[in-house]
Amino acid sequence: MQSSERIKCIIIGSGPAGYTAAIYAARADLKPVMIAGMEPGGQLMTTTEVDNFPGYPDGVQGPKLMDDLRKQAERFGTVVRYEFVSSVDFSSRPFKVTVNEKDILFADSIIISTGATAKWLELESEQRLRKISGGVSACAVCDGFFFKGQDVAIVGGGDTAAEEATYLANICKKVYMIVRKDFLRASKAMQSRVEHTANIEMLYNHETIEVLGDKGVSGALLKNVKTGAQKKIDIAGFFVAIGHHPNTSVFKGKLDLDEQGYIKTIPGTAQTNVEGVFASGDVQDKTYRQAITAAGSGCMAALDAERWLASKGNH
Ligand code: NDP
Repeated sequence: MQSSERIKCIIIGSGPAGYTAAIYAARADLKPVMIAGMEPGGQLMTTTEVDNFPGYPDGVQGPKLMDDLRKQAERFGTVVRYEFVSSVDFSSRPFKVTVNEKDILFADSIIISTGATAKWLELESEQRLRKISGGVSACAVCDGFFFKGQDVAIVGGGDTAAEEATYLANICKKVYMIVRKDFLRASKAMQSRVEHTANIEMLYNHETIEVLGDKGVSGALLKNVKTGAQKKIDIAGFFVAIGHHPNTSVFKGKLDLDEQGYIKTIPGTAQTNVEGVFASGDVQDKTYRQAITAAGSGCMAALDAERWLASKGNH
């Protein structure tokens, strides 16, 4: 049976951006309803130790951080629903959000915080070691510190890989940069930086066949795509920086997205091209991608939503 209801502020997605938006929206009495999505808690649910979220001097496990954020949002009255958004209609107000392919919610304002998902090589060894937190990571800023003074590798030839390679080079003894083509896609400035960093060894024309190690990464087996020659490198950490997918398929054609599918916001605000629809977190940020920056932009989205509703006499 189909049901419908009217809500002042719907938050779509439940990572650090969504929960922070929820805390602010609930405290501003917007009575937010959060649709938590297919992977409640977002990317931090598959992370172990988080050492860079301010306020946790001893670090915190990713799932515990998300649980704390959820409890804080619920303490002020956020209603969290473990459902998913199957379609949206932003062509008229109130906005229409269909959940679980059947129930229609009407919303006066919407905050989108559906995040982004890291791309992986999809090797069996990579996924096995990633799942046991055995030294495979898609975030150098989050996990580089664990490999201080050791040798690591990073896969990718874009700006993210180049930036993360130089970040890792400051912490680690040596960084192998594994690039499948014979050139980098990164900007000229970033190319020059990696090529002039003494402890980064460029491995052009190489792809990864296997990440080696049982309980933790001990090496990687690579293949030269031009000659077919195989090569083993000894490393303690394996970083993958081959891009992210913003989780925006449901918003295609409904909001302005950039060429990679990220939601466009007006700089300095969380406002999208549709008045009353706001976006925060990794779904609109391909540069910083940190839990704390996502949380900060979630706060901005809730403040923008509250002010917008007030300007319409709806709050
Ligand atoms: P990109 O899509 O730009 O680059 C991905 C890289 O990964 C490419 O070199 C690609 O190789 C490689 N790759 C993809 N799939 C595989 C695979 N299966 N095996 C091996 N290698 C693979 O992603 P980024 O995350 O680097 O950047 C995304 C966007 O964000 C870009 O527009 C970038 O400029 C921007 N950005 C800007 C920053 C800044 O300005 N400071 C910082 C970070 C990102 P190939 O080239 O062969 O396709």
